[in-house]
Amino acid sequence: MFDLMIRGGDVVTPEGVVRCDVAVVGETIAEIATSGTLSADAAKHVIDATAHIVMPGGIDPHVHLHHVWIKPDGTPLVTAGPEQVGRAALFGGTTTFIDFAYWRDGVSALEAIETRDKDFVGKSPCDWAYHIMLHSEPPPEFAGELAEAIQAGYPTLKIFTTNILPSRSGRMVDFGDIWEAFQVLAKEGGLGVIHAEDNDIVMHMYAKLIREGRVGYEHLAEVHNRLSEDLSFRRILRLAESVGGTALYMMHVSAGTGVAAIAEARGKALPVYGETLHQYLLYSANDYKRPNGQIYHTYPSLKTQDDQKALWQGTANDTIHCIATDELCCTLKDKIVGSRIDDTTGGNSGVEPRLGVMYTEMVARRGYSLSRYVDLVSSNAAKIMGLYPRKGAIAAKSDADITILDPTRRGKVRAADLHETDYTPWEGHDIFAWPVVTILRGKVMVQNGQYFGTPKDGRYLKRKIAQNIREGAAL
Ligand SMILES: [Zn+2]
Repeated sequence: MFDLMIRGGDVVTPEGVVRCDVAVVGETIAEIATSGTLSADAAKHVIDATAHIVMPGGIDPHVHLHHVWIKPDGTPLVTAGPEQVGRAALFGGTTTFIDFAYWRDGVSALEAIETRDKDFVGKSPCDWAYHIMLHSEPPPEFAGELAEAIQAGYPTLKIFTTNILPSRSGRMVDFGDIWEAFQVLAKEGGLGVIHAEDNDIVMHMYAKLIREGRVGYEHLAEVHNRLSEDLSFRRILRLAESVGGTALYMMHVSAGTGVAAIAEARGKALPVYGETLHQYLLYSANDYKRPNGQIYHTYPSLKTQDDQKALWQGTANDTIHCIATDELCCTLKDKIVGSRIDDTTGGNSGVEPRLGVMYTEMVARRGYSLSRYVDLVSSNAAKIMGLYPRKGAIAAKSDADITILDPTRRGKVRAADLHETDYTPWEGHDIFAWPVVTILRGKVMVQNGQYFGTPKDGRYLKRKIAQNIREGAAL
């Protein structure tokens, strides 16, 4: 007896799109069967997915939940946590996200994870994992602790090559320490997840623009610029290559220069993967000039239309592998509290409309296959981050994380219809499909607008990066 059967949908499987039935026992997919071969009586609960798309639950490999940001007046802004954002994610068809555990001075990597667990355990309706975030000037013992963390199932290390803002310190890791970290990652089977910007160029541009009195956020693309992405990507990729090919995942690629650097590294068969954000694909620096233009911003910055074109090409030719959000969910008031190049709030509120917006832009507008769309919003993240085939696949033995899209749904994204916060940068964006059912490990979390999840439903996901991902330019 199956617990659940999803019948008659067009199912996006690892082998392609097939009209079939998906049978679930407990938390996992038990069987994929040709439509009509399994009797409806064989399941306790049946969902009719006729004329719908059945895909693996979305995976967002880059979110910041319950994250502290210092506002221009010096007071902290704590962004929405996993309970609120996870609920919104599930309404939007996303079942798994990866956040960050902050590895600070005086604590071990595993203690950093325990501390971060306080924000998530019993509070997340989605499954989740963390990238461990390295800080400036780590003590010499860090290499040993990193090896231990990788072996314990925490194999991804976040590294910043910049402090991002002039007022900030503690993020940027110098190249000697990165070199050490890369050696450990390569040896122990880890993956570096990198925020690369050229700190010299960025800080130089802050000083220059402040001197010239051009401090409005509409100038952010001049500060966090294309040259910075070019220099920093090439420098970090060269460092990884010198270590013998440390696997790297380049976060929030925003410029054509970044895409070109990744393509060049992959041309040498290096294990390098690219992520962009949906706002980098769909908004440019011109959008900073719109009312409340800060809502389109996250660091590094929006760029030009040529950069957008390069990012799109990257999604079509396997240079960009994942579309993430860099989620940082706050109210409109907090999102626009900063208005200068050096105090504008980063991050994006986009976890809920991500699947719908990307369906519109990829499948409806650009003719991408459903398989490529699913790779970009789910499967590739699972493969790169060490979650596949448990996550990101509709296949026997995979977790039953399933999203059912209605491809006849038409309308516009409206903040009032979402469950995230009081604004959305996607206000008015066309809808050509929208999730109607979201299932996490066999439990129906959202169905036809009703929410059945609880903050206790999510589970931490220990991970191991697959060998093919580490050894060469896979995917
Ligand atoms: Zn981020």
